[in-house]
Amino acid sequence: MEILYLIMFFILGLVFGSFFNVLASRIPRNESIIFPASHCEKCGHKLKWYELIPVVSYIIQKGKCRNCKTKLSLLYPFSEVALGLMYAVSYYSFGFNYELLIAIILSSVMVLVTVSDLTYMMIPDRFIFIPVILVLLIKLIFMGVKVFLLSLFSGFICFVIMYLIMKFGEFIFKKECLGGADVKLMILSGVVLEPFLSLLVIILASFIALPVSLLLLFRHKENIIPFGPFLVIGILIIFFLKLDTMSIVNFLLGR
Ligand SMILES: [Zn+2]
Repeated sequence: MEILYLIMFFILGLVFGSFFNVLASRIPRNESIIFPASHCEKCGHKLKWYELIPVVSYIIQKGKCRNCKTKLSLLYPFSEVALGLMYAVSYYSFGFNYELLIAIILSSVMVLVTVSDLTYMMIPDRFIFIPVILVLLIKLIFMGVKVFLLSLFSGFICFVIMYLIMKFGEFIFKKECLGGADVKLMILSGVVLEPFLSLLVIILASFIALPVSLLLLFRHKENIIPFGPFLVIGILIIFFLKLDTMSIVNFLLGR
């Protein structure tokens, strides 16, 4: 039975990944998410149903539009598979639990934020605030008013901390180092995790971003690296590690 659920969550992730790719490539351009139907960005060729199956279509078409042979971005099939795996891992780690819902929301945000940030260098507010509201609702329903209020407060604290880090960076480097979206993403971190764990998120995200930025800097002379995807990956890792503040404090004190 277990393996059946894992496969089911994997397929669910593929399908949602495909849908989120449409959202992430249309919402930043203020396009409707329903009309026009999915089409090739280059020649406008309308996609038939068999060209819309996640990953499978990409492989059958050998990564090209059937009409104009324009290469399709690898980002799409890659993010679909990543979300399929993340949904399956979420189920595996949490089982049927309210935490599974949060894991699925965070994984979905990872795809939305990464695709829109890499494609347009921006993250629409909706990709951050809708998940924040959903997580708060889940906490309210499953854990009660007290936890809900604490999470809300934690989100606010994390927002303020990141805002101060942003202002401090601007003061030191005399240029923008963090985007407004990075500050807003910390609200999501705050409502999911505690403020102390959110600080770990920032540190972890920086450590992951550093080698990637250096690699891109050397290979493409690219010096603007979106930080948003790293922050979401940081939130995901800390959430999946199921850490809590007290156990870390005890660990640090050698207890
Ligand atoms: Zn085409």
